[in-house]
Amino acid sequence: MNEYQKIADLLFPNAINIEKIKEKYPRRKLQEGCQVTRYAPSPTGFMHIGNFFQAFISYNLAKNTNGVFYVRFEDTDNKREIKEAKEVIYQILEEFSILPDEYQSLDGEDHGIYGPYVQSQRLDIYKAFAKKLVAEGKAFPCFCKKTEGKEDVLKLRETKFEQDDEKEYDPCRNLSFEEIKKHIDNNEPFAIRLKTKNDGSQRIKFYDLIKGEIEAKANSKDFVLLKNDGVPPYAFAHAIDDTLMGTTIVVRGEEYISSTPMHIELFEALGFSPICYCHNPLIWKIGESGNKRKISKRNDPEADMRFYLREGYPKESVLEYLLNLINSGFEIWRKENPDVNWSDYKFGIKDITTIAPVFDIVKLNDIAKNIIAKEKGEQLYLNWVDWAKEYDIALANTLIQNKEKFIKLCKMERDECIKPRKDIYNLKMLKEYFFYAFERPSQIEVENKTIFVDFIKAYLKEFIMPNSNQEWFDKIKEIAGNNGFAIDNKLYKLNPEQFKGNIAKACEYARIAITGQKSGPSLFYIIDALGEKETIERLKSAIEI
Ligand code: GLU
Repeated sequence: MNEYQKIADLLFPNAINIEKIKEKYPRRKLQEGCQVTRYAPSPTGFMHIGNFFQAFISYNLAKNTNGVFYVRFEDTDNKREIKEAKEVIYQILEEFSILPDEYQSLDGEDHGIYGPYVQSQRLDIYKAFAKKLVAEGKAFPCFCKKTEGKEDVLKLRETKFEQDDEKEYDPCRNLSFEEIKKHIDNNEPFAIRLKTKNDGSQRIKFYDLIKGEIEAKANSKDFVLLKNDGVPPYAFAHAIDDTLMGTTIVVRGEEYISSTPMHIELFEALGFSPICYCHNPLIWKIGESGNKRKISKRNDPEADMRFYLREGYPKESVLEYLLNLINSGFEIWRKENPDVNWSDYKFGIKDITTIAPVFDIVKLNDIAKNIIAKEKGEQLYLNWVDWAKEYDIALANTLIQNKEKFIKLCKMERDECIKPRKDIYNLKMLKEYFFYAFERPSQIEVENKTIFVDFIKAYLKEFIMPNSNQEWFDKIKEIAGNNGFAIDNKLYKLNPEQFKGNIAKACEYARIAITGQKSGPSLFYIIDALGEKETIERLKSAIEI
């Protein structure tokens, strides 16, 4: 038995046999052109829009080729409770209908044969591959541990032994079986490091599916494959998982480009075929001072995918906005196909933008306004109730108890309009939008209180519930005419001093009495929604205040 194999057996006496692992993960039988993609979140209890962007691209690449999209939790660097992290991610994916074909559900059950879909449950697999590398002399155990003070050997590693010409002085790189055995007999924990074959003089080329050919310095670091608690950092875990789980395209953020040379050396050392990387551009934002910066969890509420749910944006508006960021051709397609679902828009890798997209909420709002403008009033009401049940329960109760009123309001300037208004972009703003439906005006501001009060008294006296906009207008005109207002605008313009105001003024007074505002949608619809009793109450109360 060679020395390396002896070391490997000493370090990992109980590791599973690699062949057994390979049997458990058969090659996927895929039709030509089908892509297997994945979303591999680290559990942070949060879903950044950039991560969602990546998941959305991966999902589409798989769906557009009848392939497979799966979710794998990369929880080896993060101590967070996996269940809590899964909840956040699955809530977002479900709400936006970006559903994986394979994943581990909240109860821990794997759906798909390539699981477990959570890395912390795959430690035996990583161990087996680490053993293989040690047995082949491509990796070595490292017994250095963190020590306090200047002589911290782990720090020394980074500053000294990791340097290309200092590897010789690495205290662990070339230990003999006997030396290693002493450490093991001493029960010392060990990490496993790659024994890089490079000395810092080599360069490599690799192909990124979005950015094309990239040339970079080859890896020349003995980086850690397994930490001394047996847990692998990202590089080692992803190389093994993406290979065993049959990923065909790794879509990940472009911040990973700089570590790709490490990953390439690792794939080679493991004897795996190289994998296709597709580094997607990150999403930027124009900051307050006009500078371009990455959209960040700390500064931008819209970085958190839950923001769009909380604000009640139509889900399709967010997806369509992201499609716009992925490929500007989407906008043209949307204009040509105004009525089909976004999922009919098929894009491939070559269509993904190479330029970092800039997030612009105004654009998102425009898309959302168009989508909401197309909804019928009743649907808008139902969406509003559903949203409120989740985010504002008191509001939900009000909406349910006053269903008829709110449906009427939602239908206003919408159901029978050829060009419905386009000023609502999320459900949260509806409460403010229909403020007059929630409370009677508490303050009345008019230039001439006496004229106002006299007119409202007259209006109240003769008030009848109108059946149409025309009927309402005819009536208010009649009352205004009988009470010193000009019903002919030309006459009014010639001799304004002879009148209390024109008909527009009279309508404005009625509106102020009922809603507290000078302008808004046709008053007939508001009266119709509020109902006779409430309208009369408001007229009375306006006279009092
Ligand atoms: N767990 C990594 C992250 O959240 C995933 C990177 C990848 O997709 O390979 O950044």
